[in-house]
Amino acid sequence: IDNGASSSPSSWNKNVNGYSNGSNKSQASTIAAQKSDLPVTLVKNRLVEEIKKRNTLIIIGETGSGKTTQIPQFIHEAGISGNKMIAITQPRRVAAVSIAQRVALEMNAKLGDLVGYTVRFEDTTSSLTKLKYLTDGMLLRETMTDKSLSNYSVIILDECHERTVHTDVLFGIVKKIQTSRAQTNKPPLKVLVMSATMDVDHFKQYFNDAEVLCLEGREHPVTVFHTATSQTDYVHATLVSVFQIHQSAPPNHDILVFLTGQEEIENMASKIRSVSKSPQCKGPELKVYTLYASLPSQKQMEVFRPTPTNSRKVILATNIAETSITVPGIKYVIDSGLVKQKTHHPGTGLDVLKVASISQAQAWQRTGRAGRESEGFCYRMFSEEDFRRMNKNTVPEIQRTNLASTVLTLLSLDINATSFDFMDKPPKESIGEAFHLLKDLGATETTDKVKLTPLGHKMCMFPLDPRFSRIILSASEFGCLDEVLSIVALLSAESVLQFPAHKVEEAQASHRKFQSNLGDHITLLKIFRVYNNISKKKEWCYENYLNSRNIEYAASVRDQLVDLCRRCNLTSSSCGQNLDIVRKCLIKGLFMNIAQLQRDKKYITVESRQLVSIHPSFFYLWLPTRIYPLYRTTPDIPLLYENPLRDRSCLDH
Ligand code: ADP
Ligand code: MG
Repeated sequence: IDNGASSSPSSWNKNVNGYSNGSNKSQASTIAAQKSDLPVTLVKNRLVEEIKKRNTLIIIGETGSGKTTQIPQFIHEAGISGNKMIAITQPRRVAAVSIAQRVALEMNAKLGDLVGYTVRFEDTTSSLTKLKYLTDGMLLRETMTDKSLSNYSVIILDECHERTVHTDVLFGIVKKIQTSRAQTNKPPLKVLVMSATMDVDHFKQYFNDAEVLCLEGREHPVTVFHTATSQTDYVHATLVSVFQIHQSAPPNHDILVFLTGQEEIENMASKIRSVSKSPQCKGPELKVYTLYASLPSQKQMEVFRPTPTNSRKVILATNIAETSITVPGIKYVIDSGLVKQKTHHPGTGLDVLKVASISQAQAWQRTGRAGRESEGFCYRMFSEEDFRRMNKNTVPEIQRTNLASTVLTLLSLDINATSFDFMDKPPKESIGEAFHLLKDLGATETTDKVKLTPLGHKMCMFPLDPRFSRIILSASEFGCLDEVLSIVALLSAESVLQFPAHKVEEAQASHRKFQSNLGDHITLLKIFRVYNNISKKKEWCYENYLNSRNIEYAASVRDQLVDLCRRCNLTSSSCGQNLDIVRKCLIKGLFMNIAQLQRDKKYITVESRQLVSIHPSFFYLWLPTRIYPLYRTTPDIPLLYENPLRDRSCLDH
């Protein structure tokens, strides 16, 4: 790794300012001090005046300036929101949860009273709640039951630079609600659009020339290093960099590492932990934390714990830590330059979750994480030339994703996606394909215009990809609802199978006990059935190389799905051992994934005649008749997960 001339440990150490975590102060006074120090606090009065004056306001400020945590409190304290609620949307579930917890603490309130959060499958709000942090997906769902969002007086669309599909759709919907409320003499709806960095003109134009407020940033200089050449093994390069920094930087100068996903992060965490225990490893005590969307929230909160004196924190994160969450104390950033993102391929109906290069804008965001409190350092695991080749800005998700769910949501609001006021229009083919899929699923019919069928209306009740809502609804007809709910819940969690590095074969042998010749879904179901009948669940999972945390999560998702089914008047039913019925149900939603085996052992999808392969990393147990996640054989599209909830947008809601 080429750290440049100025980057030898002795020279970069000189630049490092002392960092104190203030751990000896009491919590309340620490919070008060932290709050008073934030850039938004300095302009509080001006901000409150502007919010009072305007119905739409665009607020831009660097990550960590206090927008998400403070501005809703200002609005509440100034009485702007009256007796209605303030909604603050977050693209990510983890941000909604951790920020609501933080704000409740700052306001000295119990979570769920004044401050609460709503994310998919979890709602902590009550009749007392005035500040409601929620995922953009959940607010979108609320518009389906309350078309004028009558419980809210202020909607804050936060992290807008992320341009998630849900945020993009909300842009159009809140604009529409604002107008219709004004026309019908209902109380006005204030809309605040907040973002770290964005194309201000584009937003201003879309929001009818709304006022823009820019908060003064307080970024310290960050020295950036690139690798001399492109890295073929960025994971190894990252590991080396962590220890280079660790062995030479003063204690309490923490490191934030950007990686792509849970598996990579957990592997890296165990490597770092084991290397740091070796007697040759110098440097202060090393504490490793992980941060990704599917991590339970208590675990996520651990990253905020101040680093004990004479130790160092290493946080391994996905792009969650890019803008949604600011961890104090970071002095070093190591950037893999990669992100896992969902891409849709119109024409095939296939969604692909693939590791892709970040944009230059994202690279700068990540770099900025090192300069929050004093000057910092960013080590990029890619060369300057790689950087120049990156896209300048991230392509909005709406232009690269499967729109079936969005089109369905819009239809339930009586909006036809083809004429919707999108800030950036999705490709025509994606919309066309979504309509096509919904029709095939039986969700829509066309008389004089496209509208939802009764089945389509029912599908809207589930916060799932329409294909999986369809499967659940079929299951109630076929008499296998219990089984299908378990399968959908299990698919929603990260993999329940575990492969510890040195025991892959043992793990495989152990998993084989559960395998079914009816396919992977049935294998998962068998695991879950045994799990439910075992009393010492954790021990059993450990002995069988299963991830107990992921199964527990699936069980809690299942409970929520059962609840939703009850609300839709679907009665519980089981097919016992007649599991072939379950497969028939799965086909009701996943017919796009049917592929024919060719003589040359290749598969071609029946619907789109696309050459596909069976996903190599899914289940490794070879069986003749199974439903596989498929992936296109084009080399640049390596992975496809067929998963109702787990894709990035879903995962976080
Ligand atoms: P912005 O939205 O402008 O990015 P935030 O309001 O999220 O800023 O954060 C403001 C500050 O509050 C950050 O510097 C962050 O370190 C701190 N903060 C946010 N959440 C927590 C938390 N859970 N624990 C400790 N500090 C937090
Ligand atoms: Mg924020």
